[in-house]
Amino acid sequence: MKRIGILGGMSWESTQLYYQLMNGAVREQLGGLHSAELILYSVDFDQIEKMQHRGDWAALGLLLASYAEKLVAAGADGLVIATNTMHKVVPTIQRHIDIPVLHIADCTGQVIEDRGLKRVGLLGTKFTMEDAFYKDRLSDQFGIEVLVPDASARHTVHDIIYQELCLGKINAASKAQFLNIIQQLSDNGAEAVILGCTEIGLLVQQTDTQIPLLDTTVIHAQQAVKWALS
Ligand code: GLU
Repeated sequence: MKRIGILGGMSWESTQLYYQLMNGAVREQLGGLHSAELILYSVDFDQIEKMQHRGDWAALGLLLASYAEKLVAAGADGLVIATNTMHKVVPTIQRHIDIPVLHIADCTGQVIEDRGLKRVGLLGTKFTMEDAFYKDRLSDQFGIEVLVPDASARHTVHDIIYQELCLGKINAASKAQFLNIIQQLSDNGAEAVILGCTEIGLLVQQTDTQIPLLDTTVIHAQQAVKWALS
């Protein structure tokens, strides 16, 4: 089994899900007392969040690269960055390490392709919904058309992520807002909606809607285990 290095804490509310999902997937596939070989570097998210909102992406890339180097030194064979947003700085991180980064958009794109879907909605932070690094990867590598909510809905989703979900606050009114936005994406032609922030699955689950949801936390953790056992 390969050793997975998890760069987490962004936020820790979702990193704990990665730990459970990866261990659960290994137990399911290998049985008995088998569990995942994992190394976790969990950051102080306060500093990261401030740098994100200042637009300090170059420094963030170098900071996360320095953490990734610690995971390599500890023996990681591959890197899982447990947040969609911070994949914005993957090119910098990858330049500093010689182990593969299991890119969350590639894992998600693969599942979308396997399901034969062509047009999907995307929910996440503003950085994920608005910047090119995520949407373009899905369209360039997998030919997927990505729809995002309108500006006011993007604002709502972004604020709920940082002011509630990353703090572990689950609010019924926010859930209703998310479900409305998911419905709008479906009305605009989305065949499924990517939960493109690792905390959204804490608020909205598949049982809440008929529209197929693609939870990136679950997909990323499962694909990483598939890679570790290959
Ligand atoms: N975990 C979130 C994501 O998947 C948001 C927090 C962050 O900015 O890293 O994008």
